[in-house]
Amino acid sequence: MLAARLTGPKHLEIVETDTPDPDGHNVIIRVKTCGICGSDLHYWETGLDMTGKTGLIMGHEFCGTVVDPGSRSDLRPGDRVTALPLDPCGTCGPCRRGQANLCTKGMKRSIPGNNSPGAFAQYLKLRHDMVRILPDTISESEAAMIEPASVALHAVHQAGLGIGDRVFITGGGTIGLLCAAWARTGGASYIALSEINEGRREFARALSYVDAVFDAADPGVVSTMKKAIKGSFDIAIDTSGRDAGINTAISALKSQGRLVLAGINFHPQSIFTLMLVIKEIEMKASLGYIPEEFDLALESIADKTLHVGNLINKTIPLKDVQKSFENLASGDTCDVKIILEVT
Ligand SMILES: [Zn+2]
Ligand SMILES: [Zn+2]
Repeated sequence: MLAARLTGPKHLEIVETDTPDPDGHNVIIRVKTCGICGSDLHYWETGLDMTGKTGLIMGHEFCGTVVDPGSRSDLRPGDRVTALPLDPCGTCGPCRRGQANLCTKGMKRSIPGNNSPGAFAQYLKLRHDMVRILPDTISESEAAMIEPASVALHAVHQAGLGIGDRVFITGGGTIGLLCAAWARTGGASYIALSEINEGRREFARALSYVDAVFDAADPGVVSTMKKAIKGSFDIAIDTSGRDAGINTAISALKSQGRLVLAGINFHPQSIFTLMLVIKEIEMKASLGYIPEEFDLALESIADKTLHVGNLINKTIPLKDVQKSFENLASGDTCDVKIILEVT
């Protein structure tokens, strides 16, 4: 089969590699679509997978059709499916409490597209109980949005959103915009977003579930926002992962407001802790999602409660993947989500 393999820093190569063999247990799918994620961009920059090895086949936001159903008696060849790209052990403390996202053995186990072969390939082997059947009402591009929508849903759950809450989101990438979409379905009365890239600000402004978009680089952004809402925010969700964004969020929150850190940064950040203390800000982090959230994201996209199709800017063939990463890394693109079409 053909696959896009990460052979070095900033270098993806289309290679011929072994097609996974049926083993009577795992499910093998023919990949149809796969989204490019911000975390993929990080792997691409370093050329290394989650465990520091080269040769990764990325791709964890995918859908495809069943080739071999393994031990799943409810699946037939040709069925359209997606899967949670997770391998929770099921026996550790967090797993037994239903927090598969916090599995203590998670990082050491097989996570497709992170430390084991992912969906930038024609075929993919999946853990049978992670596979989900797709309803007919969900398109193949939308199906690639289920995984990021689950990440955003978990962040909004962590925020403990109440009806009528005013929400501020930093970062207008896929996760930031999906957090806004979930916050709207969850009853937020006002949703503001800050973003540094003008093209992305323009893009966010056009979305019905974002009430206002602000320039994250504007030094007066907090007072502008507070004037706009005649007060402070109840909830802030940071998807930037950077101190500038987090400090803006802290300043924009009301006393005892809630802050959720949903951005990833591999470097320490400088946070304005005095402001956290003075306002008694409640701070939580958000990692991944649990299976129930993945299932809710799937259902909500299928029944059109959550609209994700408008976040997809481009669909490109697998052979153009390297070009696409170069473009994303350049920083001048205002693309939000790019979907690979694997045929
Ligand atoms: Zn992702
Ligand atoms: Zn576990």
